[in-house]
Amino acid sequence: MEQTDIKSLTPEELSREMAALGEKGFRAKQIYEWMHVKLAESFEEMSNLSKDLRNRCKEHFRYTTLEIVHVQESRIDGTRKYLFRLEDGNVVESVWMKYKHGNSVCISSQVGCRMGCRFCASTLDGLERNLLPSEMLEQIYAITRHTGERVSNVVVMGTGEPMDNYENLLTFLKLLTGEGGLHISQRNVTVSTCGLVPQMRRLAEEKLQITLALSLHATTDEKRRALMPIANRYSIKELMEVCAYYFEQTGRRITFEYSLVGGVNDRDEDASELIALARPLNCHINLIPVNPIKERDYVQSENERIQAFKNKLERNHINVTVRREMGRDIDGACGQLRRKYIEK
Ligand code: SAH
Repeated sequence: MEQTDIKSLTPEELSREMAALGEKGFRAKQIYEWMHVKLAESFEEMSNLSKDLRNRCKEHFRYTTLEIVHVQESRIDGTRKYLFRLEDGNVVESVWMKYKHGNSVCISSQVGCRMGCRFCASTLDGLERNLLPSEMLEQIYAITRHTGERVSNVVVMGTGEPMDNYENLLTFLKLLTGEGGLHISQRNVTVSTCGLVPQMRRLAEEKLQITLALSLHATTDEKRRALMPIANRYSIKELMEVCAYYFEQTGRRITFEYSLVGGVNDRDEDASELIALARPLNCHINLIPVNPIKERDYVQSENERIQAFKNKLERNHINVTVRREMGRDIDGACGQLRRKYIEK
């Protein structure tokens, strides 16, 4: 019999499951709190449940936890990269970053990825499978247990395309930000997508207060197609329309991610085109100096080029920041640690 994944259940679903086992309503609440507030690692820890109930839970439910395989800590900035093993033996990576305003975790949403962006290490071996809501949550829970510190920000910017795992992503967001769990403010959650337009539209209609980040990386369809296969499916025009729609529905400013690749998308002309795209929208641009991966020959832009690009945007009153590079000494870029592990 396939066991139900208890940590992926919403409070309402869990109540129904417990009622089906003949248990009173408050039991569901107790168990939910053990899982999502006290971050229990097993039913054994749930000391206010009878032994009999704990045993019946073990029979009926699968209790998802992740095993820490490896932790790398940056000597530069304290950033930590975690490699986790899932119950089926697959591995995923997550990053823990310490900022003045709180701790941030970057999680993976899939094992591998099928989007094929040219500069990204996560997609080199294709997609293995989607992560369950419990497996996305557990990346945050395991890091919280390991560091002993509260997480205040979550970014879904690790391996995988979150919009390609839409239903599980949505359940994850509800459990993460809902009242009965860690209750992280929606405003402190960012979901990054390479631009799956129909799912972006659906997310807008959920009217959540999370930040939507679009990986733009180029200013014309032709240039974007050279970097991102998804650009063959959706045009920049469609992307800009759905971004405007997201703002209209949620009132949340869009973030554009733009990875600067030396000689590819970092010229003055690119900056001008980016200004023209950004101007009509309420948006923020995050410039990311590309993190070169050994499988591709893309190089970072010169520092002066990055500054000149940024200055041009600023002079034109576009909100822009250059992403601080964290954990460069620990394979900080998407998918690098997992790949190294698989190669071994
Ligand atoms: N699939 C999602 C989230 C994963 S990647 C997305 O595409 O948005 C998070 C961000 O890092 C994306 O903007 C992605 O394009 C970018 N990225 C991936 N590999 C990179 C690299 N080697 N250097 C710089 N940015 C990279």
